[in-house]
Order: sequence, then C-alpha cells, then structure tokens
Amino acid sequence: MKVCIIGGGASGLVAAITAGERGHEVSLFERQARVGRKLMSTGNGRCNLTNVHASPERYHGADGSFVVPALSRFGAAETLRFFDSLGLITVTEESGRVYPFSDQAGSVLDVLRFRCDALGVNTLTGVEVRGIRKTKEGFEIATADGKRLFDRAVIACGGAAGAKVGGVGLGYELLRSLGHGITALSPALVQIKTDTNYIKSLKGVRAQARIELKKDGKTVATGAGEVQFTEYGLSGPAIFDISGCAAPGSEISLDLAPDMGEREVIAYLSRRTAELPGLTAESVLAGFLQSRVGATGVRYAGVGLNTPLSALGSGELLLIAGAVKSFRTAVLGTLGFDSAQVTRGGARTEEFRPDTLESRLVKGLYACGEVLDVDGDCGGFNLQWAWSSGRLAGELR
Ligand SMILES: Cc1cc2nc3c(=O)[nH]c(=O)nc-3n(C[C@H](O)[C@H](O)[C@H](O)COP(=O)(O)OP(=O)(O)OC[C@H]3O[C@@H](n4cnc5c(N)ncnc54)[C@H](O)[C@@H]3O)c2cc1C
Repeated sequence: MKVCIIGGGASGLVAAITAGERGHEVSLFERQARVGRKLMSTGNGRCNLTNVHASPERYHGADGSFVVPALSRFGAAETLRFFDSLGLITVTEESGRVYPFSDQAGSVLDVLRFRCDALGVNTLTGVEVRGIRKTKEGFEIATADGKRLFDRAVIACGGAAGAKVGGVGLGYELLRSLGHGITALSPALVQIKTDTNYIKSLKGVRAQARIELKKDGKTVATGAGEVQFTEYGLSGPAIFDISGCAAPGSEISLDLAPDMGEREVIAYLSRRTAELPGLTAESVLAGFLQSRVGATGVRYAGVGLNTPLSALGSGELLLIAGAVKSFRTAVLGTLGFDSAQVTRGGARTEEFRPDTLESRLVKGLYACGEVLDVDGDCGGFNLQWAWSSGRLAGELR
C-alpha cells in the first residue's frame, strides 16, 4: 500500500519505520528542513527517550484508558529492545529515566533516520502538507508542489508546544478538515509565572519540595521533587508536572521540609533557639534548608532577619515553621506554548480506536503522538507515548 506519514518527528519516524518494515511504500512529509528537529532539543539535548516506569497513570487526557493498548503492546521494555535493535546504547538512571549512552539526542535521531533510509522510506523534508482530502480509494495530500494520492494516511504532526522547534499545531487543522474534534488546548510541562515578591530573591536556587496547587480552596494537583526558583516564578521537574493545571487565580503551596512534620520543624527551631540564643533569625534554618531559602522563609513568616533567637517567642517559631511547611505564592499564569514541552488536549480520543489508532470517522486515517489528546508527566513519558502510538499507528491494522 502507498502510505503517507505527515510529520517527521518522534512518532512519525517510528510510524514510518513500522509501516516500512511491513513492506508498504512509505512517504514521510516533514515541513522543516530536517526531520526530528524537536527530538534534538529534548532532555536539554540529551533526549530522555523513555522511563522504565511508564504506565497509564502517568498520562492525562479525557479518556485515561486510551493509552493502554499502545503502551501494553509497545511499552518501555519493547521500546528499549527496539532501539537496541537499531544500535542505540542507552543508560537507565536510578529515577527510571533513560538516555542515550552518548548523552546526545542526535544518536536517537540518527538511528531512526538510518533505519528509515535502509527501509527505503521516501523522506520529503521542507514539504508542508497543506491539505488532506478523503477520496473514494484513499487520500489526496496537497503540498505547495501539487497533489499526491495515498491509500493510508497517518497524522503525526505533533502539538502546539515548543514553537521554536516545530510545534505549530497544523495537525489539528488537517484533522478538523476531516471532521475530527479538537479539545481545548493548553501548555503543559511548562514554567509557572507567580507573584515574585519572595521568590525573586531565590533566583537560581533549587529545593526539594512537596507541591500543592489549589484553586478556590480546592486541591487541583499535587507533586513532589525538584523545584527551581526563577526571576518570573517557578520551574523544575516537579513544577512541570503540575503546570498543566496552573491557571491565573490558583495558588501554589510548597512544603520545603517534605520529610518532617510541622511539630518536628518546631522542635528543631526550639532546639536551635535554646542552643544558639545569640544567633539571628536569618540563620535559624541554616542547618537544613539552603541558606537563601531559609532566610526567605523567615521573611515570609514576618520575622525580622536580625532578631536574636533569644527574642523569638513560640508564636514566631510557629510562623516560621508554617512558612517552611506551606510557602504559598499566587499563580499568574505560565510561560505559554513557546516554552512548554507538551500540549494538554488535542484530537478527541473517542474518535479513534485505541487498539489501532485508526479514526472512527474516516477509514484508513490514523493519528499518533502529541496531536492526540494525550500528554504525559515529565521524565521521558511523552516520547514514550510518541514511540508507542507511532508503532501502533504504523501497523495500519
Ligand atoms: C524543549 C523540549 C524538550 C522536551 N524534552 C522531552 C524529553 O526529554 N522527554 C520526553 O519524553 N519528551 C520531551 N519533550 C516532549 C516531546 O518532544 C514530544 O512530546 C514529542 O516530540 C511528540 O512527538 P510527535 O511526533 O507527536 O511530535 P513532534 O516530535 O513535534 O513531530 C511533529 C513533526 O511534524 C511536523 N509537521 C507538523 N505539521 C506538518 C505538516 N502539515 N506537514 C509536514 N510536517 C508537519 C513538525 O515540523 C514536526 O517535526 C520535549 C519537548 C520540548 C519542546
């Protein structure tokens, strides 16, 4: 069969390889000058290609079970075997994140490109698909050079995130033109803009924290792990994971002593004040928090930094412990699609069969990757979805 894959990113490359391995005549359309442009920027250029803990719970979308067939057929273990067969040597970190041994995203892209070439995939770079029409027999694809006919079409255009590396959202338009619905789109795995009153002074500092995101007094997301303080607000893997739910008007609460109860923090503070009465409040937390975080916590509690510890009463110790256990800041928004790693929302999954990724509306049309209403947590889960769904769509069952 003549198959066109629209989008030469992570999911499209795997779909092209899969269809090619099944003996189909594959054309891979990529609007940018090179395939895999976004792949090259992943993991800060190291490409966190999967996570051995990939499971359906790490994914979000209207239908949480939609990812199950793709992940069961081609999960992290199968992905690692696949890349091993392509000659990629990988390293699995303690956290479960997997990187190429070369520490270069280019290695991941190269082995995919080499396999496409070996299978005779016709890769057309610098060619944007502008339109797609269902014909009686298959599909008519329109590019600036004219129209071509195919038996099957796979939409692998990615989402709207990471505009500088190719997130343009054109796949949504192609799917819409064929009658598919697109859910509301928002940036996810993105830095959060907050009130910077206290945070600005912490620019560049990293801390381990438990995070609670609240809207109208209700908890809308929780997370734990590394938080980075920046001039505009908060960043870091743990912040990315809750960012899909962050909207103006919500509030983030950081527990900066996640392994200690409030009483333990108070006991610690009491010990310090008894043992070192001459020290000032600025240093009361120096023993377990980064010094700037500790001093900011004291300021946040409304306690003067130069107050001698001997002058701190139990009420002030309670306020400082409260600042450590619940350092709250108002959310102003996110840095948006340009900075986001992934799009929340996408093509309505109820319009695709989860076991084949074929459209329920248009026979012979498939979709895979970020264009669908699926997004994963930070840590290799989004590329895993791209590989799993690309593999399934490329089977063209
Ligand atoms: C900076 C950054 C870092 C990231 N790091 C990680 C990470 O370490 N680990 C992880 O798991 N995930 C990471 N992600 C997310 C991950 O890269 C994406 O989820 C994944 O690439 C999605 O794959 P895809 O194939 O759906 O889309 P893409 O990889 O975006 O590929 C889509 C391709 O389609 C092309 N295209 C679009 N429309 C058309 C058209 N009409 N005609 C022709 N071509 C078209 C685009 O140019 C693009 O090349 C990161 C994302 C960003 C932006």
